[in-house]
Amino acid sequence: MNRTFTFFLLLMLSAGLFAQNHFPLVTDHYHLELSFDYRNETLQGHCRMTIINQSDSAVTQIPLVLYRLMNVHSVKTDNGSELKFHQSVVQFQDRTKLQTNHIVVDYEIPPHESKVIHIDYGGHLLGYTETGWRYVTDRISPEFTLIRMDAYAYPIISQPSVSFLINNIMHHLFDYDIVVTVPDTLVVASGGRLQSRTPAADNQMTYHYSSKKPAWRIDIAIAPYSQLNTEVLNIFYLNDENSAMGIAESGANAMQQYTSWWGELLSPEAVTIIETERGSGGQADELVILLPEESFSNISNFHNLYHELAHLWHVFIRENEGISPRWEEGLADFSAYLLNETLFEERAGLLKRAANNNLGRLKRDFERNPSLTEIPMIDYGNHRITNLSYVQPMVMFTVLYYWLGEEVFHRAIGGFYQQYIETGASTKDFINYWKLMAPSVNLDGFFEDWIYTTRFAEFVMEEKSFEDILEYYKNYTH
Ligand SMILES: [Zn+2]
Repeated sequence: MNRTFTFFLLLMLSAGLFAQNHFPLVTDHYHLELSFDYRNETLQGHCRMTIINQSDSAVTQIPLVLYRLMNVHSVKTDNGSELKFHQSVVQFQDRTKLQTNHIVVDYEIPPHESKVIHIDYGGHLLGYTETGWRYVTDRISPEFTLIRMDAYAYPIISQPSVSFLINNIMHHLFDYDIVVTVPDTLVVASGGRLQSRTPAADNQMTYHYSSKKPAWRIDIAIAPYSQLNTEVLNIFYLNDENSAMGIAESGANAMQQYTSWWGELLSPEAVTIIETERGSGGQADELVILLPEESFSNISNFHNLYHELAHLWHVFIRENEGISPRWEEGLADFSAYLLNETLFEERAGLLKRAANNNLGRLKRDFERNPSLTEIPMIDYGNHRITNLSYVQPMVMFTVLYYWLGEEVFHRAIGGFYQQYIETGASTKDFINYWKLMAPSVNLDGFFEDWIYTTRFAEFVMEEKSFEDILEYYKNYTH
């Protein structure tokens, strides 16, 4: 990951906050039709949402948020009758620089039933940079247009509150169909499966994509894209063909290596990589990666790509109590370093160096904020700590790797995936799985030190190197 994954982090930090008591309405399906007026820099949208009421009582109002410069023109039921609604631009309760059009639709949804609403809307899209989200420069322009959740460019069930929104969208995944009409000089890129590409009036082209898997976000990028498709990657690139070829090759090598370590993916689907405008931020869903130009063209740095591809083998972690600490970020970072030094001979030693760097980084973080040394890793989610989820578990996994050896390590990661990919699992399940894979080793004590207590922080503050820590566990019997 890099610093531009801010919104994704923000998502993760709030996800599950209200897991026990979530909002009853969720979106189960989106049918989104979009067209553009580039001269006036506006979008026209027709959005059909299938909404489920998951609670035991009727809900009479549907709250939605939409980008601040977009208006809802009408809301109708599936049989065409008009629904009453009101809309107003408001500030987010927990992020007051963030304005949104807040729409409330009067419509009763009985308990455990679903209803369809049709929303006609449209307007401008001019980013959200004033909120501090500098990467959300989304706009409507023939050079580059980005339609995504980050700017609420389509209606989303939520109150005007970031934590409310995140919790609700992460709670229930949806399928989508998107139908986008653009001038035929432009290409519509999406992580979905292309169903059709049909000429429309006035030299336009209509693209129809459907989701490959249930998703929590829709990403649509429109530009004069070129395309490069391989067995494992669909790449949409702006200009830099050499980089696209490099990424295709590198992605194929990465997937091959990961598969040899962890086994076949349960439902292999090509991953889509979409180059986006410089500075527009990286983003990864399960099957689509947005890579801003500066990452796309930085051919020597495949770390982000490797990191995202490693996530394909990660089981959805849901704690029985509290919020996931998201150690899979550290695992993805670990995997990216290991893969780098496996694929590139000249990068031998990279993983250990990265672990030592991360120990140094932890020490600096702890010195700046000593209270962090009192928080065990399992509580990172509960304390809304996100950046350490990339750093501390990365060191932990590096110790496990060198301590238990490559074979046991990969058997644990791959086996855990095969066993739990369909059901999800908790951190406790993960630890139990490791214990099964290495029964002769005292892993209870190790996971106590690194997950459930702050023993690891003592190593950090004592400036122990990765090698010292590894040695400690190799001689560890109690
Ligand atoms: Zn990640």
